[in-house]
Amino acid sequence: MSAILPGSTIGILGGGQLGRMMAMAARSFGYRVQVMDPDPSCPARFVVDACFEGQWNDARAAGDLARGSDVVTLEIEQLSLTCLEAAAKYAPVRPGAAMLGIIQDRILQKNWLRDHGFPVGEYRAATSAEELVAALRELGGKCFVKVAQGGYDGRGQATVGFTRSEATVEEQGVAAWHLLGGRPVMVEKALDLECEVSVMVARSPNGETRSFPTARNHHLNQILAWSVIPAGIPLLLEKQAQDLACAIAGQFTLEGLLAIEMFVTTDGRLLVNELAPRPHNSYHASERACVTSQFEQGIRAVCDLPLGDVSVVQPAAIVNLLGDLWLDAEGNQRIPRFDLALRVPGVRLHLYEKHTARKGRKMGHLSSVGTTADEAVARVQEAEKRLEGRC
Ligand code: ADP
Ligand code: MG
Repeated sequence: MSAILPGSTIGILGGGQLGRMMAMAARSFGYRVQVMDPDPSCPARFVVDACFEGQWNDARAAGDLARGSDVVTLEIEQLSLTCLEAAAKYAPVRPGAAMLGIIQDRILQKNWLRDHGFPVGEYRAATSAEELVAALRELGGKCFVKVAQGGYDGRGQATVGFTRSEATVEEQGVAAWHLLGGRPVMVEKALDLECEVSVMVARSPNGETRSFPTARNHHLNQILAWSVIPAGIPLLLEKQAQDLACAIAGQFTLEGLLAIEMFVTTDGRLLVNELAPRPHNSYHASERACVTSQFEQGIRAVCDLPLGDVSVVQPAAIVNLLGDLWLDAEGNQRIPRFDLALRVPGVRLHLYEKHTARKGRKMGHLSSVGTTADEAVARVQEAEKRLEGRC
């Protein structure tokens, strides 16, 4: 029997909110949990047995974490592969370095998807300002330019062609190249989106695979604003999204979780946007909507336990709470009106215990259940409005 049973120790590379919520699910099962994070007072700190301080490329700290762990998993893509390799000397690392190496680089990831026949939008890789300008010319119109490594929540991205500009394409391309730090980038044609969806897949080392019902996601300024399960999309599209996600997980021989973000275009195409080999913001509502949450499922998968039922119990939605809510117009710290928000029926509060609020930083989320997906969304949005004292 290969299962890693409760009472064993799980090591998590990364102690942000995703590591914290995974750790909480693991503790409910009776596991011991330890994390590695550059910040000794990271969100997971308060719910784990031990926190190893280490940068994302600190192979020694990763080895120390793994030495006392029965299995190691991760909550962030920005880890160096040497960290994963150091950890793998002591414990199985799930998902592993081969998969992370592809996913953590947007260029490798998109090429991998294309080469394996998965549908993606038009894109070009660029490793110099000249290549970036050429890519903008070839793709034409509006484009997203994204750093190949290290971007998240819309950071490390520039847009070209969205606003009227006197500057030539060449000038705009060179400006984007410098704005993003003169690093390899991916240039994507901006797609006309009908909506955005995602599918979370779990696969255990013994090959058992389960995908959660599709989530529908709404972004503002390239950051997830709200998300709802079930997506409420046509059945055929739901099936396409599920099949696509499971095929990608199978092709990687995934061990753990894989989130697949997808675009539904106005002309009816379903395209893969990007992959994340870990719990995902768009599945936070699974804690309320599904029999098994994404966090519990991730623990089951990496421990090679039977995967849990992912059926929808009731529709649920979340809204992200960004640090902006903690700051008034003058930039002074304030406490959002949680007392008002929590009066909305069905609403719960999830805070990550981050010590400093910054604009755009994810500090927590609100969740709500509803009799329909629309009602769940309306409730969390009503609660969110109240946080600013508007009701
Ligand atoms: P991140 O890693 O920051 O999540 P994404 O590539 O997912 O980066 O981009 C963030 C959001 O920006 C997407 O969810 C979508 O709303 C928008 N976006 C990104 N690329 C495109 C595109 N090619 N066409 C239209 N919208 C896009
Ligand atoms: Mg994304």
